[in-house]
Amino acid sequence: MDLLGATGGPVRIAGRDLSREELFGWASAVAGEIEGADAVAVHATASAETVAAVVGGVLAGVPVVPLPPDSGPAERAHILGDSGADLLLAARGVEHGDGEPPLVAVDALPRRGSARGEVGAEKTALILYTSGTTGAPKGVLVSRGAVAAGLDALAEAWRWTPDDVLVHGLPLFHVHGLVLGVLGALRVGSRLVHTGRPRPGDYAAAAEDGGTLFFGVPTVWSRTAADPAAAGALRTARLLVSGSAPLPVPVFERLADLTGHRPVERYGMTETLITVSARADGERRPGYVGTPLPGVETRLAGEDGGPVPADGETPGELHVRAPLLFQGYLNRPEATAESFTGDGWFRTGDIATIGPDGWHRIVGRASTDLIKSGGYRIGAGEVENALLAHPDVREAAVVGTPHDDLGEQVTAYVVADGIGERQLIDFVAGRLSVHKRPRVVHLVDALPRNAMGKVVKTRLGDLV
Ligand code: ATP
Ligand code: MG
Repeated sequence: MDLLGATGGPVRIAGRDLSREELFGWASAVAGEIEGADAVAVHATASAETVAAVVGGVLAGVPVVPLPPDSGPAERAHILGDSGADLLLAARGVEHGDGEPPLVAVDALPRRGSARGEVGAEKTALILYTSGTTGAPKGVLVSRGAVAAGLDALAEAWRWTPDDVLVHGLPLFHVHGLVLGVLGALRVGSRLVHTGRPRPGDYAAAAEDGGTLFFGVPTVWSRTAADPAAAGALRTARLLVSGSAPLPVPVFERLADLTGHRPVERYGMTETLITVSARADGERRPGYVGTPLPGVETRLAGEDGGPVPADGETPGELHVRAPLLFQGYLNRPEATAESFTGDGWFRTGDIATIGPDGWHRIVGRASTDLIKSGGYRIGAGEVENALLAHPDVREAAVVGTPHDDLGEQVTAYVVADGIGERQLIDFVAGRLSVHKRPRVVHLVDALPRNAMGKVVKTRLGDLV
């Protein structure tokens, strides 16, 4: 199957322009170098070399393992060892540690090569490591067929066409920036402008240059919402999309006011690519992630595995069944087996509600975002949104901490300008019922975040 289109708009990445023809010529040369490898790692900086290396892997039918360029030595060694990559693709001059696989200098290869043969849909295209928000990153095997199914469903949902100019500056080692943000543009045929880093000013400049479709994680959108000039420049865009973590309701609203666009929120994970999203030509609701993409089925399950009603109120664990599901965790047969039900549904580990109209709301992760306090089950996100509604609150993360009487108590970590703990507790008292109000508020300088800008809740306790 052809996963990517050899024709279509050019790619601009970190200021460098490549036509489709140049990119595919270069990638074909990469493919010639790596043919026969079991897997290849790519030192995934935001660069043309990374794109050529990944496309080369796709053309050769060799699984690609994107390596975060600024990962510490332990994470790098874990990914290289765990994935069994037998070559490392990088630009010349990249530091190459002892014991790492032999280096192929992508920028030393010619910009031409011959087309490759057919590769089946069941073949693994990518080994993507999860963001490591809840533990050590796991290697997720993603087939070519899953990538194709996911991207085609997205193109339909977002009316994404070759006329679009996709703009983002997300890292290229994660599903968001790499699969949607690079392979998506190459499959659909649209032009791609990668801004190097996801800065509001760069998004604004790209909008003035004709950008239509903008991708960001919530941190990008909250920075944009705090920069009225940059946000205003996005008025000419067609669609702003947020994903990878919950988009706080106040950020959704500020962004809509400043840009004239209600953002499209979508939900997915490395294991399921994108599974649920608002549509380009449909409604967008703050605090909700939309409805399942074409070809995707979802359901809710209770703690005992039994069914939970889709009444928009009762939370349950979200299960997914779809052609875009991953093939399993690399080297972790037990984790793979545990993550599927006997009847073939993937257990996301996320808690959600589903309304009678099919709209999904993500309450949070079963492991860190569902607080069990005094017999109530409280979603951390609702409390975070209430805190973020205060104009002086910049960031908020809420968790359950042990409490003798309640089991867990609602505990908030807040980054705020010139406001006290007591004032915050009083402020949310007007917005939340008694059992949801934080009993403890810690004012901190910054929240611990990983490379995708996600709050690592397991490290919050270290702040105080
Ligand atoms: P790890 O699995 O290593 O702990 P991770 O789960 O953060 O890391 P990813 O696969 O990058 O790794 O992230 C997927 C998770 O991100 C989802 O399971 C969900 O918890 C969260 N997520 C993604 N999109 C959204 C969204 N729109 N709203 C709320 N949560 C989201
Ligand atoms: Mg995960």
